[in-house]
Amino acid sequence: MLKTYSYLGKDYLDLGVIDKVIFDRESELILDFAAKNPTPKAKSPCIFCGAGTKWFDVIDEVYYQRCNECYSIFACVSDEIADLYKSHQPLIDFHNSKEYQDSAAKRRAGIWDDLLFWLEFRLARYMGNKQKLDVTDVDNHYCGLTERIKKAGFCASYNTAKPADVVLFFDKFRRLSNPAETLSGLHGKLKDNGLLVMNLRVGSGFDVLTLKGCKDILTPYEVICLPSVEGLETILNKEGFEMLEASSTGTLDVRYVLENKERLSEDNLFVHYLVNKADKSTLAEFQRFLQKSGMSSHARVIARKKQV
Ligand SMILES: [Zn+2]
Repeated sequence: MLKTYSYLGKDYLDLGVIDKVIFDRESELILDFAAKNPTPKAKSPCIFCGAGTKWFDVIDEVYYQRCNECYSIFACVSDEIADLYKSHQPLIDFHNSKEYQDSAAKRRAGIWDDLLFWLEFRLARYMGNKQKLDVTDVDNHYCGLTERIKKAGFCASYNTAKPADVVLFFDKFRRLSNPAETLSGLHGKLKDNGLLVMNLRVGSGFDVLTLKGCKDILTPYEVICLPSVEGLETILNKEGFEMLEASSTGTLDVRYVLENKERLSEDNLFVHYLVNKADKSTLAEFQRFLQKSGMSSHARVIARKKQV
């Protein structure tokens, strides 16, 4: 498997991905749902590799575990609650609102352009001579991104019922209560040798582990499933995929930790020293190290459907 990284020192990130007002409103809706739907304290083997786990954190009565073997993080949430959350109308309405979509279009335009540039390059590498592809885009709620995908040079058809050359699953992995079942469903949408492309947060990343206990990182039920790269590769293999590539694009790990440094636990001595004393260039180098070594929490993954 290829492990790559690309360092994004892009101006568009200065604007910030998050609009504070929008983010707070979204968090309010999410946490309101979580408060009304507590999850019983339940432990299960790792949902990625089957190994034993330890408790990692508890947030709003949602209990998170961390795998002893592959270091993935997940909460044992029933499929029923996960589905209820997915169809929670106030949140769907908010995501469909003009205010939300306009803010996303303004703040994420650069990120989407960069994502599609990367995707186009990778499709050319992995799909050989086939230049026009049938694309299925699953659970993407950003209109601006949808428009970009439809206009992309590689896109022959978008979300038709037929089996796809490429299935895109962006930013929703974190919501999965049963990743094996979801991956099996995505597998069924692909032609043989088709590609699954995902953009996701991983539980082995610097900010996720450093900001343990921070609701902005582990937000029930928005974030209940954060595989490590190793855990993801294991479950992809089990579900009939070969993982071709895990790219780390993370630009935001250090920034998230800096923005939330008052929430760092007292005994996290090294990180306290890092965020309070290191100069800008050291922090940038540290971020670059996280990306190069695959220890950022932001990953882009490409997997190929194995031929039966
Ligand atoms: Zn595991």
